[in-house]
Amino acid sequence: MPEQLSARCAIVGGGPAGMMLGLLLARAGIEVVVLEKHADFLRDFRGDTIHPSTLELMHELGLLEAFLELPHQEVRVLKAWFGDTELTLADFTHLPTHCRFIALMPQWDFLDFLAREAGRHPAFRLLMQTEATTVMETAGRIVGVHAKTPQGALELRADLVIGADGRHSTVRQAAGLAVEELGAPLDVLWFRLPRFSGDPQDTAIRFGSGALLVLLNRGEYWQAGYGIAKGSMDDIRAKGLPELRRDIAALAPFVRDRVGELDDWDEIKLLTVQVDRLRRWYRQNLLCIGDAAHAMSPVGGVGINLAIQDAVAAANLLTEPLRNRTLTPTHLLRVQRRRELPTRLIQRLQILVQNHVIANVLAGPGRGPLRPPLLLRVIGRLPWFRRLTARLVGIGIRPEHIA
Ligand SMILES: Cc1cc2nc3c(=O)[nH]c(=O)nc-3n(C[C@H](O)[C@H](O)[C@H](O)COP(=O)(O)OP(=O)(O)OC[C@H]3O[C@@H](n4cnc5c(N)ncnc54)[C@H](O)[C@@H]3O)c2cc1C
Repeated sequence: MPEQLSARCAIVGGGPAGMMLGLLLARAGIEVVVLEKHADFLRDFRGDTIHPSTLELMHELGLLEAFLELPHQEVRVLKAWFGDTELTLADFTHLPTHCRFIALMPQWDFLDFLAREAGRHPAFRLLMQTEATTVMETAGRIVGVHAKTPQGALELRADLVIGADGRHSTVRQAAGLAVEELGAPLDVLWFRLPRFSGDPQDTAIRFGSGALLVLLNRGEYWQAGYGIAKGSMDDIRAKGLPELRRDIAALAPFVRDRVGELDDWDEIKLLTVQVDRLRRWYRQNLLCIGDAAHAMSPVGGVGINLAIQDAVAAANLLTEPLRNRTLTPTHLLRVQRRRELPTRLIQRLQILVQNHVIANVLAGPGRGPLRPPLLLRVIGRLPWFRRLTARLVGIGIRPEHIA
């Protein structure tokens, strides 16, 4: 017999969207269970950026000071290099927020922090190593989720099931929600390189002919994201590690003395990029948020921001109907309506950059010397433009606030 549990809200996925929503609902006294398939948060989850808008939410929750005590680095301007040409693409120092920077923090520290804070509320429960396998349905209504745990099967009944299980969402697939694919020309190789005392301070993106490299300053090491043409991993493997090391050093010559430490493919993780969105984010008693509703490209590093903003909008709009047990599909539609416009606009911008900057860069050598595209040159020259990009990346469109 499967173990049986019930809660007012079941959240599948303990990523940024799921943990934030879990915290907000539990804080409002709504009984919530978060299911996370992994045993811990100690993994590379794609992206370690905590945006000024998220830091502002921490402030609204009274958690900012404690949060900033965790080890982090502060990115106040975002730079790009095209060969020897340096451009500033975003300047966060003028944002109308308490923190005028992006905090770089390993995502496991961020998720651990949210889990700790949520755990202070008796209404919160987090089940690790618990993987949702499908939804429970009765007469066309979702009534919960089936999950597997190391101890066996689990049936979790809930008034509302939230799919916050990321880009390969089981929940959205099980609920039969239609996905619109928007396409992405790149995948990303994710690895670390040591950081030495004479290294640059800046977090920057470096464009070369046929490749791009993002280096995130994480204090003692660089977290590197190396963009490759979609589907080209087999070719890169076939060419071998020495060639990859040479290409990385060509993009960032100051790491030439340590690329040798990349001596095993196991140290290099392939993160596949996909950009898509659901036409309808909900069914009766079920709602998808974050990447499960709209998988984001890494361009601009904004996916975590959007996931968190979805969680706040969902908490603001659903807490009362969950408390009163008056939830209807109209409440869920309101969440989609609230969040769909910001999502569409940001995805449109990401695709613009993917198609007009990244695809050209990844098309490879033989296209002459690499020159920053006009759009980036204009951004780099005009300070107000750099503030606009900072606003889009750091705050986003129609930011949410804790109700
Ligand atoms: C290469 C790459 C780099 C990126 N870099 C950045 C960046 O720097 N900054 C940024 O803001 N965004 C970045 N993004 C986008 C960002 O990763 C996502 O938009 C963001 O993580 C979405 O958060 P989420 O909570 O919706 O989903 P996720 O972060 O994907 O979390 C989903 C969670 O659900 C769990 N899960 C999955 N299935 C199940 C299941 N069946 N049962 C239980 N649990 C389950 C997973 O283990 C995971 O913990 C990047 C994306 C890629 C591909």
